Amino acid sequence: MEEEEQLVQEPQVDLPPWLKPLIRANFYENCQCGSRYTNYFCSECEGLPFCDKCKNMTHQHDGHDDKVLPVCRASHQPGINNLSLKKLLDISDIQQYVINSKKIVYIPQRRGKENNVQKAGAEEVNRIVKKRCEICGWPKLSLPVRFCSIECKEKGFRKEQKSVKCAKEEKPFKIEEEEYVAPKGSLRKKPRKRVPVRSPLM
Ligand SMILES: [Zn+2]
Ligand SMILES: [Zn+2]
Ligand SMILES: [Zn+2]
Repeated sequence: MEEEEQLVQEPQVDLPPWLKPLIRANFYENCQCGSRYTNYFCSECEGLPFCDKCKNMTHQHDGHDDKVLPVCRASHQPGINNLSLKKLLDISDIQQYVINSKKIVYIPQRRGKENNVQKAGAEEVNRIVKKRCEICGWPKLSLPVRFCSIECKEKGFRKEQKSVKCAKEEKPFKIEEEEYVAPKGSLRKKPRKRVPVRSPLM
């Protein structure tokens, strides 16, 4: 009997370890060298982000050429050109955006900064809304895409791993619906004594 074969599960491909430090990194802030702002991340070193001076003037990242990711800024959020990222990470399930005729992928979760959401909503009215990010609910994703950003992909992966471990049925991710606030008066239980209505003419 060869039933065993059916039980063999596809091994889950692990995400690269540098994703977490990348998500945590502060870009477009002062570099530790003090002279410029940070716009690079080295996936080989998995350390702090750095500036172009640190990249070119030190020997720290010699030989890491393809592993050094240039970070750009689009709509005040850090993103990575998908050509450099593609070699290191499967980004087929992350939404790509075109910024200055280059395709990029955002690093941080897109939803969360309310003014950002509203602004983007206004800009993208003409696009067909097809899908929401499975993690943060950011709306405007194209169909095969699951996540709005690298951060949400990482979160999604951990969530999946957890659910596999627990072998537990999990509810599909829900988009928070906490907007509704009950009117204060409705919580009162005791009927109040009626206050005689005074005539406004006094
Ligand atoms: Zn520097
Ligand atoms: Zn390096
Ligand atoms: Zn998201």
